[in-house]
Amino acid sequence: MPLIEDPKTIMDLRANGIRVYDYSSIAWSINCPRGFKYRHEMGLTLTSTEINHSLEFGRCIHKTLQFWYPTRKDDEALLMFARDFKPFEEQPTMSPKTGKILDATYTVRFGCSLLDAYFTRYRDESFELIQNEIPVAEELVEGVYVSGRIDKILRQPKGLFFRDHKTSKYMDKYTTNPSPQFMGYKFLTEKLTGQHASGELDMIGVSKTKDLASLLRREPFDYTPYQMSQWKASLVAQIKQLEVYREANFWPQFWNCKPFFRDCMYLPLCTLARGEEHDGLVANLYTIHFWDPFSID
Ligand code: SF4
Repeated sequence: MPLIEDPKTIMDLRANGIRVYDYSSIAWSINCPRGFKYRHEMGLTLTSTEINHSLEFGRCIHKTLQFWYPTRKDDEALLMFARDFKPFEEQPTMSPKTGKILDATYTVRFGCSLLDAYFTRYRDESFELIQNEIPVAEELVEGVYVSGRIDKILRQPKGLFFRDHKTSKYMDKYTTNPSPQFMGYKFLTEKLTGQHASGELDMIGVSKTKDLASLLRREPFDYTPYQMSQWKASLVAQIKQLEVYREANFWPQFWNCKPFFRDCMYLPLCTLARGEEHDGLVANLYTIHFWDPFSID
C-alpha cells in the first residue's frame, strides 16, 4: 500500500472500516480505554467548553511558524499571530487569597515577544525545507495505519530530520526517548522520503518569569532499529488490545481522570449514579465531532 498524503483518503479508509491511529488516539487508549471509546469510537466532545488558552496559544504559534519558515516575513507573521490569538487571549485574574490582580500568561503581547525571540535566534539558520506541516499516513502492519502531522521535514549538512515544535509551560518535562509520538514521526518521515531521518524537538517554553532566550531550546535525537522495532511491536500490541475491547464491547475505566492537570471531559459520564441516565447525559453535554488526525487544531 503506498504512502498516503491526501487527507480525504484517510477519511475514505475510516468510512470503509479501516482503522487509522495517530499519537492522540493512542495516547487516549493508554490513558484510559473508556476515554478512547468516548473520544475515538463515539467522537464525543463537550458541547460548551471553556477556552483552553494554552491549547489555542500553541495552535496559533504553530500556524505562525508554518507561515514564517518559507517566507521569513516577521511582521506579517506577528500580525497573523495577533489576529488569530486575540479571541483566545487570557485575561488577568484576581487572587482569591490576596485580592491582588494576577497577570495573565497567555497574552498576544507575550506570544509576539516569544515569536520575535524565535525569529531573532533562528532567522539565519540555513536548511532545505522539504515539507511544512505535512499530514501523512502509512500502513504499520496489514490493515493498521498510523498517521501524523509532521511539523517540518528539513535537510541540513548533518542530514535529513523532522522538527517538532512544542509550546509548553513544562518545557523541561518532555522525554524524547522513548516517545511513541516521535518514533511514529521517524517511521513516517523515513517512509515518505525513503531516507534515514533523525528528529529534533523545537521547544518553545512558556513562562512569565523566565527570560525569553531561555525559553527556546532545540534537542536532536534518533532511535536505533532495535528501539524502533520495540516501538512497532508495542504499538501493534496496544492496537490489538483495543480490538479486544471493541470485540467485547466493554471499554474499562483506568481512572486517570486528571490528564494534564485538568478534569477529563468524560468525568460526568464516569461518575453517573445510574446507567439509564447515560444516553441522556451524552445528548445534553456532548457533540459528535470525530478527531481528524490531519487537523492542525
Ligand atoms: S473520567 Fe476517568 S475513567 Fe472516565 S474516561 Fe476519563 S479518565 Fe477514564
